[in-house]
Amino acid sequence: MIFRNHLQSIKGPLQFSDQPTEVGMECFICGTESSEVPSAGDYKQLACPECGEYKLSGTAIALFKEHNWKFNIEFTRLWLETQRKGGTIPLISSERAATLI
Ligand SMILES: [Zn+2]
Repeated sequence: MIFRNHLQSIKGPLQFSDQPTEVGMECFICGTESSEVPSAGDYKQLACPECGEYKLSGTAIALFKEHNWKFNIEFTRLWLETQRKGGTIPLISSERAATLI
């Protein structure tokens, strides 16, 4: 459910240079329609209305796809919340992701 082929299709031929660069996609954690915030690094930055803003590393995304993992939603949101107290957008690395499923 969470990992449809959106990741591949985002960079497809349908690009509108006049449009805002935020792309609608499903939250990796809960599947709610979210905005992707453009990022330069090897991660996806998402703004989910339910989970808030977070980053998910490219390796974590690959791991989730490969193993068909799903986030433990409650646990992950709790972790995100504690991370935000530091004032930064939390980055879920592959190591971290393995503890949030
Ligand atoms: Zn979410």
